[in-house]
Amino acid sequence: MYCNWRIAELKDELKKRGASFIGKKDELIERLELNDQNNIYVSPECRTDEDPKMKLPKTYQALNSDTILPPLDKTMIRHYLGYTEKKMNNIMQLYESRILLTVKSSIVCDNTYIKGTMKTLPNEVDVVLNKSGNPEASHCKCPAGSGTNALCKHVAVLLFGVENMVRDKFILLHEDCTQNLPKINLSNKSVKPKKPI
Ligand SMILES: [Zn+2]
Repeated sequence: MYCNWRIAELKDELKKRGASFIGKKDELIERLELNDQNNIYVSPECRTDEDPKMKLPKTYQALNSDTILPPLDKTMIRHYLGYTEKKMNNIMQLYESRILLTVKSSIVCDNTYIKGTMKTLPNEVDVVLNKSGNPEASHCKCPAGSGTNALCKHVAVLLFGVENMVRDKFILLHEDCTQNLPKINLSNKSVKPKKPI
């Protein structure tokens, strides 16, 4: 429906919705369509020109094998992101290339806030999981990651990392970065957790 819009109109509409309006025409259209799908409608009086920020906790703890996480699984990730199987596989490869530097979490009420940093820009990604593990909100500093329901690849990689932690009690991080995690042997991905949970 946005194909006939002029770039200025697309940018205006994104601006009104508080979303990022940087990018090529195709990207702007995609962002508006995603925005529509997620039913993010910001009432006119609440609109600002700023990138809307998620409300985040003040303190976080580095994720480790004892961190309590809600039962996030790949189906939930796929539902949230709306990615195809192929795109999910691409993200898995990106995650396995260890682009995550650090992952921290904080539990507030029933929600688990996860903050990740990346080896490459953007360097900060946030996701919120409810107590069932379903992602509720996400934000990333990349152009596609604005708003509170960012569905960019960085959000996806962070969710894959958390899912890995839930499933196997470890997470693949950039090698230079230690986070008191069990040592991971790359040639043997089915490392058993140290302690039974
Ligand atoms: Zn991003």
